[in-house]
Amino acid sequence: MGSRFEVSAIDPDPKIAWDGINAAIAEIIRIENLISSWNPESQTSEINRKAGIMPVSVDQELFELIQRAVQISKITDGAFDITYASMDKVWKFDGSMISMPDSNTVRQASSRTDYRKIQLDPGRREVFLKEKGMKIGFGAIGKGYAAQKAKEKMIALGIKNGVVNAAGDLIAWGRDIDNKKIKVGIADPEHKDRILSWLTVDNGAVVTSGDYERFVMFNGVRYAHIIDPRTGYPTTGIKSVSIICSNPELADALSTSVFVLGVKQGLYLINQLDGVECLIVTDENELIGSNRLELNNKS
Ligand code: AMP
Ligand code: MG
Repeated sequence: MGSRFEVSAIDPDPKIAWDGINAAIAEIIRIENLISSWNPESQTSEINRKAGIMPVSVDQELFELIQRAVQISKITDGAFDITYASMDKVWKFDGSMISMPDSNTVRQASSRTDYRKIQLDPGRREVFLKEKGMKIGFGAIGKGYAAQKAKEKMIALGIKNGVVNAAGDLIAWGRDIDNKKIKVGIADPEHKDRILSWLTVDNGAVVTSGDYERFVMFNGVRYAHIIDPRTGYPTTGIKSVSIICSNPELADALSTSVFVLGVKQGLYLINQLDGVECLIVTDENELIGSNRLELNNKS
């Protein structure tokens, strides 16, 4: 998934802890092979290759992940959209882009971005992208999904306390080594190694989308690596969004969604969702929390 995963297990028996960690790593690799759009062998790549040509029959697991992704597109009014991936030829956040792409190119690519053009046949477990050139990608949801599945493997092996950290998408359960609730630091978007605020995690996930990871600057405007599927342009105005809830997959998808929706609409959505909180850092370094967010400023 192009990201560094860290897996921790706390158990008095080192063998149990290591077995848990190894099972989590194997699970993360298995998921990578299913959902990666970089690996030409993955089912996801096959779906993309057959876009506009024919439906592809996939594993139940991948089918359900796509169904859930489409569901999130619906509740976010299209702000979250796994078909954003057709834009990856237009916007590059690896330093290779030296000028703004022209508006025609953006318009053309964004016409292929539309979750409503993903056709799902549950009976046959078939996925069809209706237009040639369409592509799906799990960059905004896959790490959270993998973290959840890795946790499930560890719990099945008896690991009662652990952390899976997928490049900042984090899930923790149980207690830390001092038998205290696990605390997670939210990084300062300006200085990644500084902690802006602490959150106590009680069997839950904290997932952060941040444009300090990847962005480009044109004419003094900072464009994040998250694309607004409705315009085809990268989002501006927000530096980072952290989502706190029990499900890391949902947290992952929602962190990306709030980036696209912006502060006002993003908070409106999160405040309606039970058990989901968020913390936004704006371009002006303003910290804005959802209604029931409780921050802990001591480490
Ligand atoms: P995250 O760090 O979870 O916010 O994910 C960001 C990644 O999600 C980007 O690098 C893209 O791979 C992908 N992405 C960008 N824009 C969108 C979008 N509007 N909906 C879904 N995925 C997106
Ligand atoms: Mg995300």
